[in-house]
Amino acid sequence: MSEPILLDRCKYILTLDDKGRILENASILLDEGLIECVGDGCSGRSGIVVDCRGSIAMPALYNAHTHAAMTMLRGLHDDSELHEWLKYMWRVEAKLTPSIVYLASKLAVFEMASTGTAGFIDMYFHPLETARAAEELGIRAKVGPVLMEDSGFEEWRRKLRSIAGSLKGLASPIANVHSLYKVSPETVRAAYDEATRLNSQLHIHVAETRREVYEIHRRYGVFPVELLGRIGALGSNTILVHMGWAASWEYRLAVERKAGIVHCPASNMKLATAGQLPLRELLESGGRVALGTDGAASNNSLDMFREMRIAVFLQRHGYWDTGVSALHALSSAVKHGASLLGVDAGVVEEGRKADLVLLDAGSLYLQPLRKDNLISAIVYAATGRDVTHTIVNGRLIYSRGRNLEEWRREAAGITDRLSDFLYSILG
Ligand SMILES: [Zn+2]
Repeated sequence: MSEPILLDRCKYILTLDDKGRILENASILLDEGLIECVGDGCSGRSGIVVDCRGSIAMPALYNAHTHAAMTMLRGLHDDSELHEWLKYMWRVEAKLTPSIVYLASKLAVFEMASTGTAGFIDMYFHPLETARAAEELGIRAKVGPVLMEDSGFEEWRRKLRSIAGSLKGLASPIANVHSLYKVSPETVRAAYDEATRLNSQLHIHVAETRREVYEIHRRYGVFPVELLGRIGALGSNTILVHMGWAASWEYRLAVERKAGIVHCPASNMKLATAGQLPLRELLESGGRVALGTDGAASNNSLDMFREMRIAVFLQRHGYWDTGVSALHALSSAVKHGASLLGVDAGVVEEGRKADLVLLDAGSLYLQPLRKDNLISAIVYAATGRDVTHTIVNGRLIYSRGRNLEEWRREAAGITDRLSDFLYSILG
């Protein structure tokens, strides 16, 4: 277990507790992976002391849907439409090797850890390589093989069981199914049963495009979320990703069944899939809606601070209404993200998991920073570049002063190897 850490005299602590408290000039003591003390009387008992006088301390963020190794495809065919763009992606993905996935995942983990993300839910090939990259840095990850077609079910299940048996620490398995347009309802149900058996979750892209919704309705006579409900694959361990093109009764059904929902606003806008997920209504009716970046090829960033800002702006643009607030986006990225990752975190209070972030309160573009505009500054003005420290499970995994230069050098070496790989395929 890691040494105790004292975050000493933080300028602000954004607790995100039920009372919405923001503490000033207070400290946080972390020990054995948990928050042990919050307030004035925490000092003098620690191993590592971080001078927090110029910092905002807050709960860490979670990226609830990504394809980490797609960093290797960042900036590739940025201006194609979704189905055209997917063809390019699949051409490269057909040639992937475990070592390429490991290197590209490492880039993603560097980016996420240095921008305040404590954990992610991943859907990609060679999942053990992504888990390895995450574990080496100490960030949480849910990984698993991706079921792309019915004929691959037995092999998928064998791999998922094997992964579930081998993962340890902060990585855990997840049952990834690409979508209802690639996998039949019977097989999706079998995958859901497998997820339940492993005490895991079914993680699936749903209602992302109009084309998908039409296709599912043409084949089965119902809409995608209805279909999941009808086949018995919609429950609290189902994670529905995208959901921009669901009907009002499908949203209600998802909330009733306590399914997790992941909103990926930047990816939806960049790929021009349109649709509109009703974030505020879902949150206010008790929905568990987290945020995800999707892969770096369709975003092109894994920075969850940027994702929060864009989530609010997309809602306001779509509804001509300012009802969705910075706090809605923050609770999605923090509390609901923690819930979907199965981490008892998302609030700075004693006994919770110690997943925390420090931001530089002196950043020029956050000024004038005050207690009363703190949440606004974090969601609308801050970016991941303001993160100075990331703590996961009570361990300091990123300190800007200590790690940034070293990670940049390592990323440059990885970039050379990934570029060689891409040129060998695409010319
Ligand atoms: Zn995706």
